[in-house]
Amino acid sequence: MAGLEHDPGGVVALARDLIRCPSVTPDDGCGINALAAVLEGIGFSVTLLPFGEGAARTPNLYARLGTGHPHLCFAGHTDVVPVGDAPWAHDPFGGDIHDGILFGRGACDMKGGIAAFVAAVRLYLQKTPAPRGSISLLITGDEEGPATNGTVRVLEWMQANKQIPDFCLVGEPTNPGEMGEVIKIGRRGSLNACITVHGTQGHVAYPHRADNPVHRLLALLGELTAAPLDAGSAWFEPSSLQVTSLDVGNTATNVIPARAQGRLNIRFNDLHTGADLSGWLRTVVARHAPGAEVAIAISGESFLTQPDAPVEALRQAVRAVTGHVPRLDTGGGTSDARFISRYCPVAEFGLVGASMHKVDEHVALADLTQLTAIYCGFLEKVMG
Ligand SMILES: [Zn+2]
Repeated sequence: MAGLEHDPGGVVALARDLIRCPSVTPDDGCGINALAAVLEGIGFSVTLLPFGEGAARTPNLYARLGTGHPHLCFAGHTDVVPVGDAPWAHDPFGGDIHDGILFGRGACDMKGGIAAFVAAVRLYLQKTPAPRGSISLLITGDEEGPATNGTVRVLEWMQANKQIPDFCLVGEPTNPGEMGEVIKIGRRGSLNACITVHGTQGHVAYPHRADNPVHRLLALLGELTAAPLDAGSAWFEPSSLQVTSLDVGNTATNVIPARAQGRLNIRFNDLHTGADLSGWLRTVVARHAPGAEVAIAISGESFLTQPDAPVEALRQAVRAVTGHVPRLDTGGGTSDARFISRYCPVAEFGLVGASMHKVDEHVALADLTQLTAIYCGFLEKVMG
């Protein structure tokens, strides 16, 4: 088949096989099972770790080759987002190859990344049949969904079974336009707050008989937004507080309302914690509006992996293959790296993500080959 004449480590063949598993979240297990068979064939000891019950049941996989250190783990997901309503030019689960491009749901996010890592292990073992360290894979079938029975549960199992690695590489697509642009070494935290100020309703002509909650809300939001939270840190852009909604719902022109509500979101860097920011919010609110309700939800803390030896090895491996020195970045949305960072250092590098979650998701065969070479180079540098 076109594109498979020269396929180092079998990366294209494996990526295509995985795409042909229609593993839309929640994964039916096809992608996990197909991968398990391949890993056993290479010599990994594979543990299937389904968690949850009924519709929430999630297939997961942990596989390890060797027992020594350094222990390097590759993390990823076999589930994919739905095809969507717009028509595709290529069968989303067909694995079509046209003009050096492999099409299908999951091509870049992130079955192609998983295939590249497996192919890299094959190539590495050809050169180093008895590595001193060990290699593992943490693969979940629920990253694109609620993610409750996926990576979080597998990490708990890994800790209970003394399988926490020395370093973890997540294979999510990190490059905006071409291979070699970005390695992610952290991400910002996120906090949502809803502030409800209660006043005393009254006639606008007699304000001394009322207590206007809108004025209190505006004053406290003014203080919260008056100064930047910080000026950024070594690896992070400045934290940002954005007011997202103001709700009074007052239809009258002559009534001071009884209640006013404001919502805000804070994206925060490593100079803050969710708890510190919550305390600051509550203090400012209490000064302007004693008795106001403050509901806070922290959807994630920030994390940073120091760019020391393993990250530098990854950077060198990227440079050796692509010729680019990748930027170390902490921006963008979430991934399972936020969970892994609680256990060990973690960085992310994968394919070009321009077509992820879109119609006709695709990956260039040349990018799959490059990523395989990068992962193999990284294994050689870290494992020796
Ligand atoms: Zn993904």
